Amino acid sequence: MKRPRQFGPLPHVRYRPELQFCPHFGAPLADSHPVWAKPVQFLTGVEHLTNLGYRCGNPACPFPRTVDRSARA
Ligand SMILES: [Zn+2]
Repeated sequence: MKRPRQFGPLPHVRYRPELQFCPHFGAPLADSHPVWAKPVQFLTGVEHLTNLGYRCGNPACPFPRTVDRSARA
């Protein structure tokens, strides 16, 4: 049986959304939760990437459940 690949300790890179403010309300976005996290193999090496989800920090926003994430990630 094929054994899972061992990467060892990896450099951690965290991606945040490109938007800093809610497009509906203009309030600053607040850190909510990591959307996904996994090791990614590039031609130049391996990094452990985390894509962080942000939500509108204003409780009066009409879209409080919308999660903004990084397009680059
Ligand atoms: Zn909002």
